[in-house]
Amino acid sequence: MGIAKRTFDVVVVGAGGAGMRAALQLAQAGLKVAVLSKVFPTRSHTVAAQGGIAASLGNVKEDNWHWHMYDTVKGSDYLGDQDAIEFMCRAAPEVVYELEHFGMPFDRLDNGKIYQRPFGGHMQDYGKTPVDRACAAADRTGHALLHTLYQKNVQANTNFFIEWMALDLIRDDDGDVLGVVAMEIETSEVMILHARATLFATGGAGRIFSASTNAYINTGDGLGMAARAGIPLEDMEFYQFHPTGVHGAGVLITEGVRGEGGYLVNKDGERFMPRYAPNAKDLASRDVVARAMATEIKEGRGCGPHADHVLLKLDHLGDDVIRHRLPGIRDIALKFAHVDPARAPIPVVPTAHYMMGGIPTNYHGQVVAPHRTAPEDVVQGFYAVGECACVSVHGANRLGCNSLLDLIVFGRAAGRQIIEDLKANPHHKPLPADAAERPLARLARLEAQKDGERVADVGDAMRRTMQQHCGVFRFPDLLAEGARKIVEVAERARYTEIRDKSRVFNTARVEALELDNLIEVAQATMIAAEARKESRGAHAREDFPERDDKNWLKHSLYYSEGRRLDYKPVRLKPLTVESFPLKARVY
Ligand SMILES: Cc1cc2nc3c(=O)[nH]c(=O)nc-3n(C[C@H](O)[C@H](O)[C@H](O)COP(=O)(O)OP(=O)(O)OC[C@H]3O[C@@H](n4cnc5c(N)ncnc54)[C@H](O)[C@@H]3O)c2cc1C
Repeated sequence: MGIAKRTFDVVVVGAGGAGMRAALQLAQAGLKVAVLSKVFPTRSHTVAAQGGIAASLGNVKEDNWHWHMYDTVKGSDYLGDQDAIEFMCRAAPEVVYELEHFGMPFDRLDNGKIYQRPFGGHMQDYGKTPVDRACAAADRTGHALLHTLYQKNVQANTNFFIEWMALDLIRDDDGDVLGVVAMEIETSEVMILHARATLFATGGAGRIFSASTNAYINTGDGLGMAARAGIPLEDMEFYQFHPTGVHGAGVLITEGVRGEGGYLVNKDGERFMPRYAPNAKDLASRDVVARAMATEIKEGRGCGPHADHVLLKLDHLGDDVIRHRLPGIRDIALKFAHVDPARAPIPVVPTAHYMMGGIPTNYHGQVVAPHRTAPEDVVQGFYAVGECACVSVHGANRLGCNSLLDLIVFGRAAGRQIIEDLKANPHHKPLPADAAERPLARLARLEAQKDGERVADVGDAMRRTMQQHCGVFRFPDLLAEGARKIVEVAERARYTEIRDKSRVFNTARVEALELDNLIEVAQATMIAAEARKESRGAHAREDFPERDDKNWLKHSLYYSEGRRLDYKPVRLKPLTVESFPLKARVY
């Protein structure tokens, strides 16, 4: 084969919160772990998380994991799997204390306990009154978390492959996963990383949309690689739009601002959320707030010369609170909206933020897919955690602060499961002869392509199609047209050309490879959205405005080959408690 090879016990792709929490568990158990990342680990998107991590510590007001579980099930619009949700909410206090003991610098209350603030959809007593459940380090919680985990990994001797990009999964004829083929970005050197276990923690894919809060590296690589290897993608139609992206810039303003007492107003200066969510008001679930904002704008009550945004008012909180609890938001408002939030409101619009769907897993982080002869089976050697995975704890809509929690709970759980599984599999399975064939062919095609389209142009066409046809509100004609268009864009992506073949920074080559992954995610999202004929959570159809539990209480599975959809039941039974019965969702 003439290509370099290295052997590890475990290969982790992704050095965000999920990958690093799993890697830490594995390295501390004495396993030889490689962690690959396209960027320096502490630049992964987790670093940008602002508001907090959810756990029912009850440091400010009474709280418990049953209430947290109820809120998460309700927030998911009943599409979340209740076994996984129970697992996560029960483990939350323990994993947060663990982070505290790793040295994570949480803010403190006067009594020395971890500071907690209210967040959207976090309620006491099964949905009655808002509760302070978000454990925060100012508005830089992800930064504190990621740096803490990185330092612990350095201490545990995790092997980092920095600025290495995984290109494709290696699967043998049994369907088992044996590692990845990866490329060093600086040199384009391709290498096989052979492993007994492979864990994907590649994060989200917000870059399928034009307006996104996500980093430029969030290109859905894990999903693209899984899809090309025949693994389905689950619930891809559910993409969360965060209510408060800075108008025109997309940069996120955390819900923590509303948690601290900020609220939204329309052009008449009216605080409009009480009309849509009388109880939770500005702290209703994100899908509810985003739709309310879109409705205000649609009905002509938007602000600015084009009436295309609303305002987030926080000047009444006072300069002190803003500087102390929301220093990062103050910087963002000054830099991207050119306003001092202590004096003037921030212009905001709903902005693509979080992918609820992903690679299907169980709550041990094992990838579950139709496989061999069984319709639902664990894919040997393959695990996924974090935003790229669909456990599914977020169902049709994620609650704020439940993602950082998901990373840590399932990162640790997957680590534990891998340690167990490797005891039963002490030897590496032999690599198939064609292990690197697919990625080498993709690279060769890119080198050879002449007179192709520019990657940037095809990428723009994809982002525009997603933005126009698959947004906060979804219309039948736009979805049908969008599904046609996105397949056309995917065809164009097969003939892109990289004009700048110099190896300096290698960005052109990397962007071309990322486009392959983005296109997989975009198609899955659009096609699954077009097929789901109901409104649930973040998927709001104009022609089917109601949730339809009789026909649609099920997870979608999208297969890249043949662009085919299948469905599987929601796991309504929790592990130890009674399941929460289906109810209409009001805030
Ligand atoms: C602005 C912002 C604010 C947020 N605030 C909050 C919050 O307050 N609370 C909350 O709970 N959630 C929040 N979220 C969501 C949450 O931060 C993310 O869902 C979460 O951090 C994702 O973590 P991850 O470990 O799955 O992936 P990421 O942190 O995105 O890391 C992905 C990793 O994969 C690597 N990678 C990707 N592809 C490849 C490849 N092909 N080869 C090698 N490496 C690869 C990247 O280099 C990176 O290291 C926020 C999200 C955003 C965008």
